[in-house]
Amino acid sequence: MERSGLITELQSIVGERHVLTADEDLLAYAYDGTWYQSRPLAVVLPETTAQVAAIHRVATRERIALTPRAMGSGLSGGSVPLAGSLVLGIMRMNRILEIDEVNAAAVVQPGVVNADLQRAVEARGLFYPPDPSSLKQSAIGGNVAENAGGARCLKYGVTGDYVAALEVVLPAGEIIRTGGKMVKNVTGYNLRALFTGAEGTLGTITEITLRLLPKPRFLKTASAAFERIEDAAATVVAIGSAGLLPTSIELMDRTTMRCVEELQPAGLPLLSEAMLLFAVDGNHEPSLDGDLAEIERIARAHGATAVQVAANAAESEALWNARRAISPALARQRPHKLGEDISVPRSEIVHMIRAVNEIAERNRLTIPIFGHAGDGNLHPNILCDRANPEEMARVKTAAREIFEAAVALGGTLSGEHGIGLLKKQFMELDVGSDALALMRRIKDAVDPLGIMNPGKIFPEPGGPDAFCL
Ligand SMILES: Cc1cc2nc3c(=O)[nH]c(=O)nc-3n(C[C@H](O)[C@H](O)[C@H](O)COP(=O)(O)OP(=O)(O)OC[C@H]3O[C@@H](n4cnc5c(N)ncnc54)[C@H](O)[C@@H]3O)c2cc1C
Repeated sequence: MERSGLITELQSIVGERHVLTADEDLLAYAYDGTWYQSRPLAVVLPETTAQVAAIHRVATRERIALTPRAMGSGLSGGSVPLAGSLVLGIMRMNRILEIDEVNAAAVVQPGVVNADLQRAVEARGLFYPPDPSSLKQSAIGGNVAENAGGARCLKYGVTGDYVAALEVVLPAGEIIRTGGKMVKNVTGYNLRALFTGAEGTLGTITEITLRLLPKPRFLKTASAAFERIEDAAATVVAIGSAGLLPTSIELMDRTTMRCVEELQPAGLPLLSEAMLLFAVDGNHEPSLDGDLAEIERIARAHGATAVQVAANAAESEALWNARRAISPALARQRPHKLGEDISVPRSEIVHMIRAVNEIAERNRLTIPIFGHAGDGNLHPNILCDRANPEEMARVKTAAREIFEAAVALGGTLSGEHGIGLLKKQFMELDVGSDALALMRRIKDAVDPLGIMNPGKIFPEPGGPDAFCL
C-alpha cells in the first residue's frame, strides 16, 4: 500500500488530527531519553483499545512495524522507532478508570503519568510505591513495559510487583485480558509477568490494574557523609545484615554531589567522598526513630563522619529533590552522558564501585556513580562528547567493561531501565545462549511477523564486538 493510502486508513481509525506526519513531529518522536535517533514512518495516537487493535490489524496486513510509546523518557532506546516503524503513542489513553478502595486496586489507562496516579491514590489514603525519579515524566504504560524501579524498591519492590491485571493488544490485533483484582491467582502461565518488562516487543498494553497499599503515615529521612565511598558501601551491606529494611538507601559520590550543588544548592557534604540518603516509613513513629538511630549507629561504626536526620517534611523534601536532580545535573557537565543501570547483589556493591572507578581511570573518563545502593542498582554515568571519536572509543570500551564487571560479580545489565538498543549486544553474556534462544522462541510465537518494536532486546550478529553507541 502507498504511504498516502496508509495514512488515510490510519486517519479513518483515529481521526485526521491524530496521525502526525509533519517533519517536526517525526523528529520529536524519533528520540527517547538516550541519544539514539530514528524517524518513524508516521505517528498514530489512538484513544481506545478498539483503535489500538485496528491499528495492529492494519500493521499486520501491511507488514509494517509498530513501536509503542508512552512519554519517551526511556534510557535504553526502547521507544526509538526502527525499521520504518509507525509510532503508536498511547498518551491520549490517560484516564484513571477506577480507584477501588475495597480491593486496594487502581485501574488505569497506560498513559496515566506516574505522579498523577500517586497523587490520586494518596488522596484516598492509598499508596502506589513504584517511584522512578522520572515519576513526573513517565507513564504507567512505559513503567510496566520497562518494569520500572525507583528509590522505594528496596522495601516495596518494582512495578511488576504491583501489576494485578493487564489488557494487551497482541500483534495481529487480538485483545487479551490477564489477571484481575484478586490477591491470589495461579491459573496457567503468568502472562502478566511476560508482558511486564517486555519493552513493547510482544504487544501493546492498553489497560493496567495495579495493586495498592495503605499509605504509611510517617516518612523520615536521614543522610550520612563518608570520607571513603567504600565505607558507604559497607554501611549498606551492614544495614541489610542487621535485619533492617529501610524504604530507600540512595548513594551519591562526590562528583555527583558537586554537579547537583552546581544546579541547585542543597548543602550536600562536598568534602566527603560519598553520601547515603536513607528513608524509613511506617505507621508507628517511635519505631521509625528507633530504626534511624540504629542506622546512624551502623553508619558511624563504618566511618560516617556526619549523620543528619531531616527535622521536618521540608528538609526531607529538599534532600529528595536533590536526589531527583542528579540526571539533569550530570547532563549539564558535558555535551552527552551515557547512563548505565547495572545491578549487583548487595554483597558486591563495594567491588562494583571499585571496578567502575578503575574503569574510569584506565579509560581516562569521568564516571560519576549514584543509584539505589540499598538494592544494588547503581547508575555509573559516563560523561562524554559524541563529536569526539577518540573519546567515544574509550566510552565504548568503558561501557563494555562495566557490563562485564557487573555480570562477573553475579549481577545483571539492567536493574530498571531495560535493554532496548543500548544493551542488546550483551544479552547472551548475561542470560546465556539457551535462555536467549528461549526468549527468541517466545518472541517468534507471540509475534511471528516481527511487527512489535523491531531491533530491541535481541542482539544483532557479532555479540559484544558489534556493540555500537
Ligand atoms: C531523569 C530520568 C530519571 C529516570 N529515573 C528512573 C528511575 O528512577 N527508575 C526507572 O526505572 N527508570 C527511570 N528512568 C527511565 C524511564 O523514565 C523509565 O524507563 C520509564 O518507565 C519509561 O516510561 P515512559 O512513559 O517514558 O516510556 P517510553 O520511554 O515511552 O517507553 C519505554 C518502553 O516501553 C514501551 N511501551 C511504552 N508504552 C507501552 C505500551 N502501552 N505497551 C507496550 N509497550 C509500551 C516502549 O516501546 C519502550 O520500549 C528515568 C529517566 C529519566 C529521563
